[in-house]
Amino acid sequence: MAITADELPFDNVFAELPPAFYTRLMPTPLPAPSFIAASGPAAALVGLDLQTLAQPDFVEVFTGNKVAVRSQPLAAVYSGHQFGVWAGQLGDGRAITLGDLPMGDGHGRMEIQLKGAGLTPYSRMGDGRAVLRSSLREFLCSEAMAALGIPTTRALMVTGSHQPVIRESVETAAVVTRMAPTFVRFGSFEHWAQRGKQDELRILADYVIANWYPELAGAANPYKELLAEVTRRTARTIAGWQAVGFMHGVMNTDNMSILGLTLDYGPFGFMEAFDANHICNHTDQGGRYSYANQVAVGHWNCYALANALLPLIGTTDEAEEALAVYRPAFGASMDEHLHAKLGLRDVRPGDEELFDAMFQLLQANHADFTLFFRRLGELRLDGGPGEDALVRDLFLEREAFDGWAVQYRARLRAEASRDDVRRAAMHRANPKYVLRNYLAQTAIEQAQRGDYSGVQTLLAVLERPFDEQPEHDAYAALPPDWAAHLEVSCSS
Ligand code: AMP
Ligand code: MG
Repeated sequence: MAITADELPFDNVFAELPPAFYTRLMPTPLPAPSFIAASGPAAALVGLDLQTLAQPDFVEVFTGNKVAVRSQPLAAVYSGHQFGVWAGQLGDGRAITLGDLPMGDGHGRMEIQLKGAGLTPYSRMGDGRAVLRSSLREFLCSEAMAALGIPTTRALMVTGSHQPVIRESVETAAVVTRMAPTFVRFGSFEHWAQRGKQDELRILADYVIANWYPELAGAANPYKELLAEVTRRTARTIAGWQAVGFMHGVMNTDNMSILGLTLDYGPFGFMEAFDANHICNHTDQGGRYSYANQVAVGHWNCYALANALLPLIGTTDEAEEALAVYRPAFGASMDEHLHAKLGLRDVRPGDEELFDAMFQLLQANHADFTLFFRRLGELRLDGGPGEDALVRDLFLEREAFDGWAVQYRARLRAEASRDDVRRAAMHRANPKYVLRNYLAQTAIEQAQRGDYSGVQTLLAVLERPFDEQPEHDAYAALPPDWAAHLEVSCSS
């Protein structure tokens, strides 16, 4: 199947909504765009491949320099709460939707969005652009999260240009093509609710239900069920984050997907030396979006969505009922993750205490989160401090680890755990490779010098996070000293 970019079978369901929901506009071209990187698995989702994406006409279309015949580009409007405060109208300030492409397997569609494709009516003070650094971070992390099994928007490719873009320093422009069934956000609903526009609110809710929650359409109160289902999905996605130590960094309601997908990768981070209060976003001085706070903030964001949907739902009692699914959904999902991470088949009384003691130990010793779980999989039932060196050496207080290991071994014996079976299961639950900031930074600096090979290698490693890949052991290493000074902020 050799199609040209011009023949891409775009359609655009969002464009069927009334014009108040978006502005039709053309992306702004960038000078001499070039191919930087693409994701094979993401491409396959929409029936494309790497070779095709690297063709000059695809680079042009996915930079926004040329618009495919069937594409109807638009920017969507939304509002939102930022850092807990109502921020008013925001909208796609630098993202432009080209339309939807059919999934390669014939089921459903993916909305294709260019991030960094130029000014829109929602750009406010921004320049409509994204820099290579942040585009590569979004690209790599989207695909890494997908490989970890965490619901997320996807990233198809990154193109770049020599056009200068001013941030803290002068960087260069890039465009990341991202995909999701829809990019509708909690803030898309808040936008109409705050303006008292009930017709638009209902049109948007019906649109989301008809396309992505069709099973709810026949319910007695579909809007209440929508809130409950979005709340459930949000809780589960955040449990997935906590389980791999992912921190989003900017959980504003405009960055919360109505499908419960991880959305808008900016100053994110993966937990390294464990600290429950770690703040990955340098701009977030109060720590509103720290690792530990993500769980409560997810709930708070669902409250904001509930407030917006209230006129459709009816009573606050019904909205409260829908929101009440958050804690149990998070708890059940987190519990499942923790059992899997510790290689436990059964659920037994006392497991909570074992988990709590483990987190206290990690906190007190700031042990590396990813290495701890991965190495714990190597523990042998009949071993002891002598044999546990690999994992034990991650702790300053070695005896404290030994004490916990005695409890852990007793718990494993109680379910007649077998070393080989447990090791294999734990290695499927505990990634060896996550997108540590220093790994992203190294690949980015290389790309900034015009060498994109590091991005492709890192992507290939992150596409198989649970596999040993011994030839890539270096990518599983603790951060080097220089990484302690890395700061990521909202600047992107
Ligand atoms: P974010 O914090 O990245 O989720 O962005 C919040 C809002 O700012 C959204 O409406 C973005 O579209 C907008 N925005 C962020 N960066 C830019 C930029 N460089 N140009 C235009 N709009 C931007
Ligand atoms: Mg955003």
